[in-house]
Amino acid sequence: MVIAGLARLRLATALAAGMVPAVMALAAVMALAQPARADEDTSAGPETFAGVSVECRDIRGRPVRTYRIINLGDVGRAGVVNRVPIIALDPNIMALLPDKMQLFFYLHECAHHVLGHWMAFAPEHENDADCWAIRYGRDHGVISRQDVEAFGPVLSVSQGSAAGHLPGPERAERLLKCYDDKPHEVAQH
Ligand SMILES: [Zn+2]
Repeated sequence: MVIAGLARLRLATALAAGMVPAVMALAAVMALAQPARADEDTSAGPETFAGVSVECRDIRGRPVRTYRIINLGDVGRAGVVNRVPIIALDPNIMALLPDKMQLFFYLHECAHHVLGHWMAFAPEHENDADCWAIRYGRDHGVISRQDVEAFGPVLSVSQGSAAGHLPGPERAERLLKCYDDKPHEVAQH
């Protein structure tokens, strides 16, 4: 998932795309995150999944802050609030996933920031973020083709979404295509 910024224009775009609950959820997340105690749930440093440390920075080189929010409504979300790029993860959903999928979903949310997706909404952003995540994992030797093949059964329960996620089986197939793409097609990082 990606959430457009909260500026009026972006909200209008999000409304048109049927993403209102996501935007509202993020607003609620940020309201909760304001108190000092929020430090317990947030980190601006590298995150570790499957033993792999990833430092996410956005298209402008700003560090991305990670929040862990129960009942987020999705495994992860990416957004920009008060000009701070953030990733929100649902720790309960993450805990149910194989560790390489946890890494993949974090990289997917990071990709939205790396690729500057919050500046405008586009349906292809979800697939672009998927591909970026897979290629990052491949090129850093932390996601194997076998790992990606193992994502299939987990993704197969997914129905896709209006925000651009493909239904599970198609998404799994596309991830493998991303993996098999030539190295020179790798997205920036
Ligand atoms: Zn996404």
